[in-house]
Amino acid sequence: MDTTYFKICSECNEKVFYKNANSFRANKCKNSICRNCKYKHQSQLMTGKRWTWKNPLSRIKCANSHKNSVVWVNSMNTAEYKKIHSENKMGNKNYMFGMHHSDKTKEKLRIQAKQRMTN
Ligand SMILES: [Zn+2]
Repeated sequence: MDTTYFKICSECNEKVFYKNANSFRANKCKNSICRNCKYKHQSQLMTGKRWTWKNPLSRIKCANSHKNSVVWVNSMNTAEYKKIHSENKMGNKNYMFGMHHSDKTKEKLRIQAKQRMTN
């Protein structure tokens, strides 16, 4: 590794090395922290939380925030918009038009549906 391009992390005062002059020049004026400090912050932020859509609370929260958004209320939640978008997915415009699921895929979907019912 080329050790000529480095700066000092503002949190732990360790040296942060850059691979080349261009990346060093692009980042030297930013007050960014080193990779280890970044991971530390991330783990502090996410303690007790999960990064997954399987968490029903986060899913509900996200859905509610989208329902109240200006874009949804003013332009997307109209009968005209919904009609256009449903027509765009009908008949030969649908990407699955004329195609069928293979037996392997059907089995997969069956298993997923069963899991949804039990959970
Ligand atoms: Zn650091």
